[in-house]
Amino acid sequence: MARAAERTGLEPVIGLEVHVQLDTETKVFCGCSTDGDADEEPNTRTCPVCLGLPGALPVLNEAAVAAAVKVGKALNAEIPAETQFHRKNYYYPDLPKNFQITQYDAPLCSDGVLEFSHEGDRRSVRIRRAHLEEDPGSIQHVRDGPADLEARTTSVDRADYTLVDYNRAGTPLMEIVTEPDFREPAAVRGFLEKLEEVLAYLGVFDAGSDGSLRVDANLSMVESEHVADDGTIPEEVLADANRTEVKNISSHRGAETALSYEASRQRDQIEAGREVEQETRHYNETHGNTVSMRAKEEEKDYRYFPEADLPPLRVADWKEKIDIPELPDARRERFRTEYGLGAEAASKLTSRKAVADFYEQVAAEFDPDLAATWVADNLLGELNYRDREIESVTDRLDEFARLIELVATDEVTTKNAEETVLRTMLDEGVDPDTVVEREGLGKAAGEEVATAVTDAVENNPDAVADYHDGEDGALNFLVGQVMQATGGSADPGTVNELLRAELDS
Ligand code: ADP
Ligand code: MG
Ligand code: ZN
Repeated sequence: MARAAERTGLEPVIGLEVHVQLDTETKVFCGCSTDGDADEEPNTRTCPVCLGLPGALPVLNEAAVAAAVKVGKALNAEIPAETQFHRKNYYYPDLPKNFQITQYDAPLCSDGVLEFSHEGDRRSVRIRRAHLEEDPGSIQHVRDGPADLEARTTSVDRADYTLVDYNRAGTPLMEIVTEPDFREPAAVRGFLEKLEEVLAYLGVFDAGSDGSLRVDANLSMVESEHVADDGTIPEEVLADANRTEVKNISSHRGAETALSYEASRQRDQIEAGREVEQETRHYNETHGNTVSMRAKEEEKDYRYFPEADLPPLRVADWKEKIDIPELPDARRERFRTEYGLGAEAASKLTSRKAVADFYEQVAAEFDPDLAATWVADNLLGELNYRDREIESVTDRLDEFARLIELVATDEVTTKNAEETVLRTMLDEGVDPDTVVEREGLGKAAGEEVATAVTDAVENNPDAVADYHDGEDGALNFLVGQVMQATGGSADPGTVNELLRAELDS
């Protein structure tokens, strides 16, 4: 196997802690809105609860729990009958209470799994736990100076002062912790993509919002002799391996870059006979490297204790009541069997729920293959070119169906439908009949074409003679004449056939 040959004696072992913001209307323990835009005033979406003022009491947001239960079900995780919140104590200016309300030994979800594909292979990563917690605020380190604030933002060691904004504080987060099941940095990307896909299917995640997914990535190097052929590594080996935790990763690509850097840095250390420090490192996106932040904190540093302001959370009957939609893998399989689609089309059409829903509505009216071509190739292609999403056309399903109908009933040529009607529909927001009418794209009626064919033959004796002499260009010339006479609205294939019939008779 290629994999075995690549082993050089040391292999990276990777485990992730992924923080995802749950897309609720209000924060997890107060009624403040979670909906802020990029240039909002700092500290305007706050209240005594999320500012941590003395005496303010948290009230758990039902929608956040429902979203978390959905995630648990999608990850095939165990959800206990009862769970509980804890306080994680540490001092940092983005944390106004000096503790974070989170979950500790009774997480909402444990022992799940997520399957994804990497370089065409099926991979599976175990989910150790997934719990609900609150997001801290955000801080910005700034230098003195005349330029605008954005330009003066810097790293903590260069800053003259630090600003804090509690608008984000209290946004519901789900922390999803994997087992150290990854063996290569590149696979992390496939996992994160799949995770986002599933979260979006569940309708609990807004991938477009800034900082909605943040990753802490743990990496150690393990002697390849400890790695079994199926990739498993004994617990003691994992526990003994010195590892680093890289923070501040906010993109799929960032995760791969940070981990590749970290793997080669640790390899160099070990090969130079030095021990890898157990520490927390910071990913610098600009430089693509990681820098040491602090010695790794341990559990005991946080003085976890139960959050007495929130009663235990009983979710026993929620599990049955909360339904989740058919997930991407299942839907992809069904598209293959139910509509007879190929692997590529089925994947393309199911990676986003809104696309899959749109496709199924089109496929209900037309041949599934024709529907797949129109949605997966034409529509998604044109939308992608315009940097637009399916959501910008979901309420125009009828118009899109009408466009396909025009092609299916031979009223417009496929070429005109793709290149003119669809594009104009997208660019100008008009319906297909309007475009056809305005641009004169309706296929010429049979009689008009027949007359144009007869005229072309009568008016071009030289071309006709050339055709009979076997000259290649002659037929094309005559087709061109007919197309011109019908204003480009005739179907070239039909014209071709009619001309041959006339000439050969
Ligand atoms: P901690 O208590 O230090 O946070 P955990 O055991 O909770 O450590 O694990 C945190 C993360 O570290 C998990 O994502 C886990 O998969 C990962 N991890 C554990 N052991 C290793 C290892 N040897 N190499 C890389 N990652 C690891
Ligand atoms: Mg941890
Ligand atoms: Zn609030």
